[in-house]
Order: sequence, then structure tokens, then C-alpha cells
Amino acid sequence: MSKKWGQHFLIEPNYVDQMLHVAQVDEDDCILEIGPGQGILTEALLQKKSQVTAVEIDPKLYQQLSKKLSQQKKFTPVNQDVLQYTPQELISFYPEPYKIVANLPYNIATPLFFKLLELREHLLSITVMVQKEVAERICATVDSRKAYGVLSIAAEVGFERKLAFSIPPSAFAPPPKVDSAVVHLLPKAKVMPAEKEAVFLRWIQGLFNQRRKTLLNNLQRCTPLAFQTHKSYLEKRYAKQRAETLTLSEFMELFALIGDVK
Ligand code: SAM
Repeated sequence: MSKKWGQHFLIEPNYVDQMLHVAQVDEDDCILEIGPGQGILTEALLQKKSQVTAVEIDPKLYQQLSKKLSQQKKFTPVNQDVLQYTPQELISFYPEPYKIVANLPYNIATPLFFKLLELREHLLSITVMVQKEVAERICATVDSRKAYGVLSIAAEVGFERKLAFSIPPSAFAPPPKVDSAVVHLLPKAKVMPAEKEAVFLRWIQGLFNQRRKTLLNNLQRCTPLAFQTHKSYLEKRYAKQRAETLTLSEFMELFALIGDVK
């Protein structure tokens, strides 16, 4: 059992059933599973007669699972670190848009999320089990206070979001120290070109870097020229506000104003 690869295996089949229900897995669906481990989810997906490509980093688990499921024609195991794939490579797993269903190792959830955000036009849905705290951040709105931040805004840019259900540590072997939850994400169309969206999200990241400072302080630090250009308007409109009090549409409005002025 490897700690560094976040190996906590699900042992309660009813949570697997709930996940498949949330993901609405159907016959002939194309699924990418990340971290199949001992295969509890993989087998359930194959029972639904879906096509499953499963990327596992651990060579031992990969070998064991390949052997166990060698008779399954709809199963393609891959021994690889999923984070090593470029978005283009991830897209090419299937010729058409596909679903992601996975119980993710906790340490890769956030970097993987940002990759999936980029390729969301090629996905039908994402249904993943993650640390509950991360699930809450992904699904947070401006009213959620502490949980609301860059991850929430990036998730809202890219997806309709739902925190489907929680899972206690006792559902895993060995049990993790924290609760888990399943999030279900449905991709939204891009409202700006990919490069501009990346700039927008980096800009948001900058505004949240110093959470305790006001939005105006952060704007002055991140985009000094834009701040100077629009100083009097910004001071009137955003007096005393912090980044965490702005909704996505308010961030977009502000981004449109300051545009490319750095
Ligand atoms: N799906 C199984 C289950 O539900 O019981 C295992 C889930 S376990 C939380 C995470 C799995 O992801 C482990 O099998 C681990 O080896 C694998 N893993 C960890 N990091 C990975 C990575 N970067 N790429 C692919 N698989 C990874």
C-alpha cells in the first residue's frame, strides 16, 4: 500500500453504486478511470457494459488488474502517471467525448482538475471522489465564505457543479484521515478563447494570493497600470471589498474593464 500514491481502496459497494448512478453510466459509454487500484469501480463500470480505459501509476496494481480483467474486451489498462499526459493526449483516449469516473488520489485532484478544465469540450461529464474539503471548494459560491476561491471560480467558469454525496473514512481500506465526497461536473461551453480564459484564471489567482488584503490592494499589486488608469472608478466601485466577495460575473465585468492593461 503506497502512501505517496494515495492508495485508499473503496470497500463499500453501495458507494460504487451511488457513483455510477450519479454518473448515469450506460451501456457503451466511453469512460476514462484514473487510479483503478484493485478495480472495485472498474468492475462495476464493466458490468454496465461500458468501455473503460483505466490509467494506473502503480506498476504492481496495473499488472494485478490487467491479469484479473484480461477476459474483458472492453477494458484497456494503462500503466502511467495521469499528470504526465498533455490535454491533447488525454483527449485522444477516445474519438468522441467521454465520461470521467474515478476515485481520485487526493494529492492529484487539483492539478488534474485544471487539466480537465482545459479539455472540457471533449468531456461529457466528470464524476470523481475527492477529499470532502476539495469537493466543497470546487462547488463553493460567493456565499460559502472560506471555501470560495480560485478553485471554485475556475470550476464555475467550466462546469455546472454538484456535490453529490459524502463518504466516511470507514468506507475505505486503509481509512483516510478525512471525509471524502463525490462531485459531478457537467462541462459548459467556453465564453472566451482558451488563451484568454487562462489569463483570466491567472489574474484571479493573483487577486486571491493575498486573501487578507482588499481587492484594491491586490489589483494595485497585480495590475498596477490598469489600477492607475481606472483608479477613481475602482475606488468608488470596490471600496473595502475583498476578492472573495465578488461573484464570477463581477470578476468578468472587472476583467473586461481592465482588459489587457497590466
Ligand atoms: N479506484 C480505486 C478504489 O476506488 O478503490 C483506488 C482509488 S485510490 C484512492 C487512488 C488510486 O490512484 C491508487 O490505485 C493509486 O495507485 C492511483 N494513482 C495515484 N496517483 C496516480 C497518478 N498520478 N496517475 C494514475 N494513478 C494514480
